[in-house]
Amino acid sequence: MSAPAGLANAPELRPSGAIAPELRAIEGHGFRAPAELAVDRASGTPADRRGRLVRAGLALRERLLAGPRIKGVTSVALATFPYPSRYGLRDALALPWPFLALTNRVFIVRYDDFAGTARTLLVSPSDVDANAETPFFKGLVAQMGRFRRVLEPLLTRRGPDLAAVLAQAGVRPEDVDFITYDHLHTQDLRRWLGPAPLFPRARLLVTRAEWRSVHGLSAPQLPWYCPRGIDGVPDDRVLTFDDGLELGHGVVLVATPGHTEGNHSIVLHGPEGLTVTSENGIAPDSYAPAASSIPGLRAYARRGMDIVLNGNTLERGLDQYLSMVLEKTIAGPSARDPRFPAFLASSELTPVAWAPGLAPGLAYGDLAWGARR
Ligand SMILES: [Zn+2]
Repeated sequence: MSAPAGLANAPELRPSGAIAPELRAIEGHGFRAPAELAVDRASGTPADRRGRLVRAGLALRERLLAGPRIKGVTSVALATFPYPSRYGLRDALALPWPFLALTNRVFIVRYDDFAGTARTLLVSPSDVDANAETPFFKGLVAQMGRFRRVLEPLLTRRGPDLAAVLAQAGVRPEDVDFITYDHLHTQDLRRWLGPAPLFPRARLLVTRAEWRSVHGLSAPQLPWYCPRGIDGVPDDRVLTFDDGLELGHGVVLVATPGHTEGNHSIVLHGPEGLTVTSENGIAPDSYAPAASSIPGLRAYARRGMDIVLNGNTLERGLDQYLSMVLEKTIAGPSARDPRFPAFLASSELTPVAWAPGLAPGLAYGDLAWGARR
């Protein structure tokens, strides 16, 4: 009997010979595991879990605000691209546009570790050319057919290459200590950490769950992960963590599962207080729909939903909601507009002419906080 057509056409699982990688302990790098984040996220009712996460978020927030800040952060737009509205704002949006625009940024974070050593962390350093191989986006371009030449420049915008961004910021590749992504959708790490790495010293900080996930993706996840994006990245370049990781003064990575199984958020204590970065939401509006002027979001809030998930695969929907409650609690009100939390999306909703009405109530854009090197 021949295989059903659906099975015969099933996408190939990642062919890499890598089984589960040897998971590296975090000791020896001067990191700390924040005690507040050792939260039971599994037992009890969803309301119990929410309560525990809110208490954890408040405790972490209070401690971080009383402590030192990072030395600086610069963020630069690498690319603006179309993304399905039905994923970015789910069923909250009351506009017919099939796509909205997101801008992906790299964040160059400078901070001191607990031993007083100056460190450089890159958050979300995307290899934009390689990202185009992500099956979902490759399919989108293929759908443009003979109109591609007109549509692609209209719908997408390219920023400078990462190497140029770093040179402009005065960061040499050998200065980069750590790289992290809130999750690994679309990312290709080979140019940065593969066999001929641009960054000779950098290590990837990733949750154990995300790193495990990319070694054996299933069909719903495959369209969003760059094929072979982690091939050749040596195990000793990868440091994994579970609930959270405090890198030094004013920098904490917080596990926020949901958007992907191993999603995490980057918490910074900067000049505007605490900020939280991830792609769980695409704008501060996602965390405060009642204050948003994006059509549909206020009505969504009136129907009882206080958060709008960014879900393309909804790997764990309720966990994502609870993770976003945690993010919102840690961030607190934005110093720029207290109606919204201090959430800096790693892929930020960006107003464009081809999707009118889709302007967030609060956008951070490019950041230039603190002293440059
Ligand atoms: Zn994603």
